[in-house]
Amino acid sequence: MFIEPKRGRSNDQKMGWVELICGSMFSGKTEELIRRLNRAKIAQQNVEIFKPGIDTRYDEEDIVSHNKNSIRSTPVNSAAEILLYAGNCDVVGIDEAQFLDKGVVEVVNKLANSGKRVIVAGLDMDSKGEPFGPMPALMAVAEYVTKVHAICVKCGDIAHFSYRTVADEKQVLLGELESYEARCRRCYNMAKKAEPALGTN
Ligand SMILES: [Zn+2]
Repeated sequence: MFIEPKRGRSNDQKMGWVELICGSMFSGKTEELIRRLNRAKIAQQNVEIFKPGIDTRYDEEDIVSHNKNSIRSTPVNSAAEILLYAGNCDVVGIDEAQFLDKGVVEVVNKLANSGKRVIVAGLDMDSKGEPFGPMPALMAVAEYVTKVHAICVKCGDIAHFSYRTVADEKQVLLGELESYEARCRRCYNMAKKAEPALGTN
């Protein structure tokens, strides 16, 4: 389990850092983000949470996870907007970061350089198994990377693929969690192999 790093508190050399939580769908990324943010709140720190406006699966202003811990969040249309709103906080949470533009890398660096702790969560791969949006670059610049795993719905092994059970060319289907399954490498590859036989629909 991730334990918060101990950092010096001298104000004249205040430096933040970036944490990244990544994994497939159903891997508990948001739960882990919320756990860390709640601990920061207990430590009397100001916490702000942002997520892309595109993510409309759940409540507009709340980050909601399955264990009904919810934290109010601010939807943003671009990564740069986060800088406008994050001024007063000690800890910045960003959920569903895979949907944000590439500018998010510079944004998290600026926030960390100004002394803030930044915790980013997002899907590391899309349903084709390709690295997703700005996530690879965020992994590179983060001090701490945590990869969380789901359980394969076919065999119960550790899963890190989000397999899409309905054919669609879009990189992401929104609002349709039921269209995805967590799969291990073996079960993901087996399903992919079987796909052409089903036609291209
Ligand atoms: Zn499996």
